[in-house]
Amino acid sequence: MLIYNTLTRKKEEFAPLEDNHVKMYTCGPTVYDFFHIGNARVFITFDMVRNYLKFRGYDVTFVQNFTDIDDKMIKRANDEGITVKELGERFIGEYFHDADALGITRADVHPRATEHIDEIIDLIKILVKKGYAYEVNGDVYYKTSKFKDYGKLSHQNIDELKSGARIEPGEQKKDPIDFALWKAQKPGEPAWDSPWGKGRPGWHIECSVMAMKYLGETIDIHGGGPDLIFPHHENEIAQSEAATGKPFARFFMHVGYLNINNQKMSKSLGNFFTVRDILKIYDPEVLRFFMLSSHYRNPINFSQDLMEQAKNSLERLHNAIYSMEHLERVAQDKDLTEDDEKYLDKLEINKNEFIKAMDDDFNTADAIASLFNIVREYNMFVGENSPKKLIVDTKEALLTLGSVLGLFGKFMEKTLLDEEIEQKIIEREQARKEKNYALADKIRDDLKAQGIILEDTPAGVRWKRL
Ligand SMILES: [Zn+2]
Repeated sequence: MLIYNTLTRKKEEFAPLEDNHVKMYTCGPTVYDFFHIGNARVFITFDMVRNYLKFRGYDVTFVQNFTDIDDKMIKRANDEGITVKELGERFIGEYFHDADALGITRADVHPRATEHIDEIIDLIKILVKKGYAYEVNGDVYYKTSKFKDYGKLSHQNIDELKSGARIEPGEQKKDPIDFALWKAQKPGEPAWDSPWGKGRPGWHIECSVMAMKYLGETIDIHGGGPDLIFPHHENEIAQSEAATGKPFARFFMHVGYLNINNQKMSKSLGNFFTVRDILKIYDPEVLRFFMLSSHYRNPINFSQDLMEQAKNSLERLHNAIYSMEHLERVAQDKDLTEDDEKYLDKLEINKNEFIKAMDDDFNTADAIASLFNIVREYNMFVGENSPKKLIVDTKEALLTLGSVLGLFGKFMEKTLLDEEIEQKIIEREQARKEKNYALADKIRDDLKAQGIILEDTPAGVRWKRL
């Protein structure tokens, strides 16, 4: 299996460091707002990567953080007159609402920066002790020039980086390429006690800390959006490797940019879309299908036309599965003819094509093409007089391969477990407490769609299966 590694700018053969166990970390959202469709592309991509690694027989431990303290969080919380913690709670809830809708499986751990302040302080102490960090009036900075591999991920040398760097007003660093590990408290900001006085962590340090805490000093795959290569991931490497003396991540994977009508997405251009906006118009599966229709490293252009195309293409696959569901009920068990055997051989070839495409750096575009090949063969060859085996095998192939991409969920015979229902009820109660009635109603409707009916009684919420 080949994965493109940003560190070497090459596709490399992938195998986890430890037996069969893949340790994977992706940088999650800063929870100050709804997440946008560029973020969605990143989260969908790594969900697909995780699914496929599992499909290939690996155990995967997957960690994705929430950045719940930074300038944007503080500003919005102040604007709304709420605490940073309240703001974080709210948008973590909104993240899960949208991510769940997109079929993104929750990570094994979703750690939050503010819940790891002690560990962050410990790592900064190590860096200070080893001479990789220094304190100035309550700020602590990383001494970038001391880390000899700095720039190895973004393939830049220190001199190039120096020419592009500057010291922002209020920063007290000694060198423009140094970066903050700890920021002294400013008036009106939340702060924690530290050996350097009250303050809060810089952004980069949290990912070093949380990745190493939950996955160990060397992880297999580190992922994120294209804008994280520099400085964020470069700085994570500098922090972690200076502290441990070991490689931090063996493979760095970065998703390509998402443009809107061939322009960069930005609030000032008025072409900025959150997932919440798009899901008012399209089924979440269409958005997911759209994202996976291109290779994850290629730039992707988002437009209404292309979304309509994705919707129509996905419908063709759905229609084929509906047809299989129907034929499965009417078709008979019969002996296979030579042509039937040939059909099943072709099905096998197409399944292998899917795997070959995915083994080649998760080429979902080609993998989806092989799903269409399966459907084309099926439409040409299979009908109500075909042996039932042809229909059953084709449907199973489509659903299995589709599930790797997180598609066709509505065709899966999946009933919710009791504890999943109870969890949804708790989330709905929480939403109602926060007067987020739209979310509360959505949870109730989603459950209803799965045959679970909620009843509000004076004694609390009761539920039953239809
Ligand atoms: Zn990160």
